[in-house]
Amino acid sequence: MDRCRCFFRKRLYFGKFLKFYRFGMSLLNELYQEIIIDHSASPRNEGRLITPTHFAEAYNATCGDELAVSLWVRGDCIMDVKFYAQGCSISKASGSMMTEKIKYMAIGEALKFSKNFQNMLYGEDLQLLGEEAMGDLVALLGVRQFPLRVKCATLAWHALENALKFPVH
Ligand code: ZN
Repeated sequence: MDRCRCFFRKRLYFGKFLKFYRFGMSLLNELYQEIIIDHSASPRNEGRLITPTHFAEAYNATCGDELAVSLWVRGDCIMDVKFYAQGCSISKASGSMMTEKIKYMAIGEALKFSKNFQNMLYGEDLQLLGEEAMGDLVALLGVRQFPLRVKCATLAWHALENALKFPVH
């Protein structure tokens, strides 16, 4: 009898835990989805700089996303950045978040951040960047479960890296 009750209690407890866990996760997913929708519906720093010092375009064949990044660099600092994207909400949201993150960063710092963020998306190490450093970008980590969408999330960062390699003359 006692054993039975104990077993029942354990099951009840585990059931409650599962319910709570699922509820918590779905809330978190909802919050992340809202952040992504917000950035894709009203992208920050959208457009093209008139006189960029650096410019690059990137294309994601698996999803059909096109994205362009223009930068205005003074000395070692990214003073201004704009992006323009045609494609899915993930690529747009990532572009918007990227511009917010790297504006006023030093070139080396931006490149290091880009590399770490992409390594996190490919699932190598989730501790590379802290939650505070990630900001809204944390919402994109959910795409790790969908390998094809990872390319959508990394597109803006590829464009950024290429732009920094190719100064406009
Ligand atoms: Zn896409």
